[in-house]
Parts: sequence; structure tokens; C-alpha cells
Amino acid sequence: MTAQLNPRGDVAVLVPAAGAGVRLGPGRPKALRLLAGEPLLVHAVRRVATASVRSIVVAAPAAEVAEVRELLAPIAPVTVVAGGETRQDSVACALAAVPADVEIILVHDAARALVPPELVESVAAAIRAGAPAAVPVLPVVDTIKRVSAEGVVTATVDRAELRSVQTPQGFRRAVLTAAHAAGSDALTDDAGLVEQQGVPVTCVPGSEFALKVTRPFDLALAEHLLTVAPEPAAPRTLIA
Ligand code: C5P
Repeated sequence: MTAQLNPRGDVAVLVPAAGAGVRLGPGRPKALRLLAGEPLLVHAVRRVATASVRSIVVAAPAAEVAEVRELLAPIAPVTVVAGGETRQDSVACALAAVPADVEIILVHDAARALVPPELVESVAAAIRAGAPAAVPVLPVVDTIKRVSAEGVVTATVDRAELRSVQTPQGFRRAVLTAAHAAGSDALTDDAGLVEQQGVPVTCVPGSEFALKVTRPFDLALAEHLLTVAPEPAAPRTLIA
């Protein structure tokens, strides 16, 4: 069943999905690799189509735009654009396609296919409550060391002040637009660009289910997690 997006929603979700997925091994672009018989991107879109979302924009590999449109049509009304060379380029392409009057923008990696819908709503809520930017985080469980190019430990980093950062990352629209316009070296997330502008980024509790499917091990873990984290129920209740 197609999840109807909320015409009165105040959130747009950008889904960069144009990566090759080299670390998963040879095969299709990562967002189109199958998890329990469905592409990662299908799982991700189903989970980000939450109650306050008005618009979803997917950045697909340029050669796969038509295929991705067809794939997502039964899932939710989604705008599909061609992505770029880097993740940052792909986010910029998607941002350009967001309807003019949506003020809360979430950026969610297609690779985080099992993100709980509640996490999407909690990041949006942080922006609605006044944060210019918000990211979901988890504590770091391993001891982290800095290592030289020669493979020798140079320092042990204080774990208490470290966090793993996930997506969706949320922004006031003007904050994300300004950060992308300022440009910089390609970063691995959008909050990094915003930090470079001196904008404070608020942390909200993340979820183990929002793991990024990057390597074959992650895919096996995600297959297992699907057995304990069923698909979100549809149809969803729309907010007033
Ligand atoms: O490569 P990485 O794991 O950081 O990719 C994170 C997300 O960014 C993935 O969903 C991937 O499809 C997307 N991406 C993109 N365009 C690129 C590279 C990555 O949309 N050129």
C-alpha cells in the first residue's frame, strides 16, 4: 500500500541514495541491494514516510533514476532526482527539489534502511522546538585510539566525549541551504558543514536499528533485525 504523505506536514526528507556501495562488494548501487528481498532504499523510504513528512526527495544514481521512480511509486509519493559525484553533491541536488514552503529538512542515508519512524519524528521535533540543527547519536563502546600511517598508536581518545552520529540529521532549511552554499571539502555528513558555519548542533538519542549498512556483516545483521523490527504499520495516522 502507498503511504500517503501529509499535505499539512512541515518536514521534507532528503534521501541520498546515489552511492556505489563498493564496501558491500561488487553488485548494484548500494541503495538497490536487497535486504529480505527488497532494496535498502524501499525499506528506508517506508520508514521515513512518517506522520509529519510532507515531501520525500531521493537522489538516485543518474543511470537509475527511472528505475528508482518506478520502484518507489507503490511505496510513497516521492520525488526522484539524479545524485552527484559525492554524497554532498547528492544532498545538494535533492535540496534543490524541496517545495519552497517546507522549513524543516531531514537528511537520511538510504543505507540506514531500518531507521525507526520514531527517530525520524524525534529529530524533526528537536528542530520544531527551536534547534537549528540536530543529530541522533549513540555512545561509543570501543576504546578509540589515534594511529599513525605506520600503524603505531599515537594517542588514546577519551571515550566519554565521543559519540557515533547517525541519520536522519535535521536542520532549519535556511541553515542547511547556507551551509551547502558556503561549500567546502566533501564531508561525510551535513552536520559537519553546519558546524563549519559555527551553528550549534543538538544531539538526540539515536537507535541501534539506524545502523548504516556498509559491509556484508551489516547486511546480515540488518536481515536479523528485520525479524525483531517489523515494517511500520500502514496506513499511518496523519497529524492535524
Ligand atoms: O558512502 P557512504 O556510506 O558515506 O554513503 C552514505 C549515503 O550517501 C548512502 O545512502 C549513499 O547512497 C549516499 N551517496 C550518494 N551519492 C554519492 C555517494 C553516496 O547519495 N555520490
